[in-house]
Amino acid sequence: MCRHLGWLGQPRSVAELMLEPPYGLLVQSYAPRRQKHGLLNADGWGVGFFDDAGVARRWRSATPLWGDASFASVAPVLRSGCVVAAVRSATIGMPIEPSASAPFSDDRWLLSHNGRVDRAALPASDRPAESTVDSAVLAALIFDRGLDRLGDTIGEVGAADPEARLNILAGNGSRLLATTWGDTLSVLSADDGVVLASEPYDDDPRWRDVPDRHLVEVSATGVDMVALEGTA
Ligand code: GLN
Repeated sequence: MCRHLGWLGQPRSVAELMLEPPYGLLVQSYAPRRQKHGLLNADGWGVGFFDDAGVARRWRSATPLWGDASFASVAPVLRSGCVVAAVRSATIGMPIEPSASAPFSDDRWLLSHNGRVDRAALPASDRPAESTVDSAVLAALIFDRGLDRLGDTIGEVGAADPEARLNILAGNGSRLLATTWGDTLSVLSADDGVVLASEPYDDDPRWRDVPDRHLVEVSATGVDMVALEGTA
């Protein structure tokens, strides 16, 4: 599986979020600490953020994050109050191409998926997917249904494919939404904002683990967490 990260708060640079933390996405691309599926995340990376005008901007690649000196050079000046980033470990059989790297977007939301899903088990959706990768097909379904129904959609997909792992992370500039369904997620409430991440990027004692099968919402009013349907 992959590793993802979301930020909502005061503007931070994508270098601060992805490259500088001692166990951030850069280190997670070759030495993740909590990854249960896959050893490293070398099949691509991506970052999306909302600019000052609220426009979603994306930079995605099909090469390892650790080899991208140009991104490392520019990342310190890319700043935003809402960021969704990921490093990718491709599921067997899935294409390796920039459009298969998260975040996916419908221009309103940026969305990442950690996990895998049987594409044949997904309900049909009219919206074209950005890639044939399972995550892009799932993203198209989620965009089609609307992010306000994210919890319902994940419950439905989880019932249709009991083997699926469905950790979603999405941001729209003023909110982050995330699900846990088979993989890890942690939350850090910092002084200047909130981080959601597949695993803690440092040893700050304020990190909290999100239980499995939960929906997390981060907004200006704080962090809310509810159990998803079907949770024992
Ligand atoms: N299944 C997705 C892919 O192939 C995500 C994989 C993952 O979470 N490692 O990219």
